[in-house]
Amino acid sequence: MTSSSFEGLGLAEPLQRALKAEKYLKPTPIQAQAIPLLTEGKDLLGIAQTGTGKTAAFALPILHRLSLEPAQLVPGSPRALILAPTRELARQIGERFTAYGRKLPLTSAVIFGGVNQHHQVKALKAGVDILIATPGRLLDLCTQRHIRLDKVSILVLDEADRMLDMGFIRDVRKIVAACHSKRQTLLFSATMPPAIAKLANDVLNHPVRIDVSPKTIAVDRIEQRVYFVGAKDKRTLLDQLLADPAFDRVLVFTRTKRGADRVCKQLKQTGVPVDALHGNKAQNARVRALDDFRKGKVRVLVATDIAARGIDVPNISHVINYELPNEPESYVHRIGRTARAGAGGAALSFCDQSERPYLKAIEQLMQRKVTAVDHRLVETPPEAGPETPRRGRPAQAPKGRRRGGNRTPHSSDTTWTRTPHSSEAPRTRTPHISEIPMLAAPTTKRGQVSRHSGGGHR
Ligand code: ADP
Ligand code: MG
Repeated sequence: MTSSSFEGLGLAEPLQRALKAEKYLKPTPIQAQAIPLLTEGKDLLGIAQTGTGKTAAFALPILHRLSLEPAQLVPGSPRALILAPTRELARQIGERFTAYGRKLPLTSAVIFGGVNQHHQVKALKAGVDILIATPGRLLDLCTQRHIRLDKVSILVLDEADRMLDMGFIRDVRKIVAACHSKRQTLLFSATMPPAIAKLANDVLNHPVRIDVSPKTIAVDRIEQRVYFVGAKDKRTLLDQLLADPAFDRVLVFTRTKRGADRVCKQLKQTGVPVDALHGNKAQNARVRALDDFRKGKVRVLVATDIAARGIDVPNISHVINYELPNEPESYVHRIGRTARAGAGGAALSFCDQSERPYLKAIEQLMQRKVTAVDHRLVETPPEAGPETPRRGRPAQAPKGRRRGGNRTPHSSDTTWTRTPHSSEAPRTRTPHISEIPMLAAPTTKRGQVSRHSGGGHR
């Protein structure tokens, strides 16, 4: 049933050529399993984490099938519809369709909210075979009669669990109801909460189920480490890490939009090229932040979960969880931003006392422990505080936080050591990051990612 080469999957010749141009050597597991079934027209329930190659798994068979059934373009009436939770993801999927379909006479358009609808409506009027959309703007344009969905014979719900989280589930159901009743439907989700299981049950017709377990995919190739650190010391720890040039394309996650802005501002003050990505930013600012990050103009991108979901930027050297997510699944998604397409990557998490339960839930989900880094930027027990000699770096002098025997030692109390025996060191110093064992791990050097073509991504 599966094939270890794209040739064996029976895809149309123009698609094979496009894949060669993309330098895709062989299908990923989900592609090998899904493509033959989808070209036959079967419904699919795909349970797969991020970074498994889902986009090509559905885009290639869609392009294949539509190319075999040429049809007159009808303004505002697409034949295939892909629903995605965020604007960034919709754009990314649109780019992939353009890349894979460039040798085919098929057209596609991407629509999403937050921007003027004018250009989108114009594209729709010209007629498109494939429409990629976020649910809100799609329904809006349907109501305005710029779009009708009754000719949609292939429907994809991508990242369905995230659409649920974002409150789109009713919109999604309305959209499904407006599509052709005899259609092929694909639903992808990283997790299966009851509401998604029910949705799948309602909209899919005898689906084939493909499960790509997270343990065997991205997670195993990613160096994961946790720093137990006081909430107030996270900033210093981040500065320390970023002093290492090996951290050359870093995605930092916070739980909240305000947190993202705060961290971004702090880094800016230290001269790091940085931008923030979250839902409160204007669409053009989000596009720019992402493009700058992709091009390397911005070294650090600070993001919230929703904004970063599904984002595919090649060669991210490190993902840093400045704050751990309260939903364990988000952790897997976050760290999946590195180690794209077979590459390795590193994910470092900062965990303060209040986040210990989150870490526990994450470890339970992954069924493995995350190794702690011995770094001494930890919350030392209260009694140890006053005795610690104050020798640290004068540049990080305390800012009015010295009063009393506070429980969280200030970062200048901190000792970074290679071994637990700091007393052997002639004097306390901050070792270079490369001396800290895991950070010297050779997993993420740029240039090792040979399977990335990057075509259409730059
Ligand atoms: P997912 O949707 O599962 O998160 P994507 O479809 O975004 O994953 O794919 C992740 C990355 O892998 C993209 O950069 C894509 O171009 C690349 N990719 C997908 N399939 C292959 C393949 N067969 N060979 C090499 N790279 C691939
Ligand atoms: Mg995807």
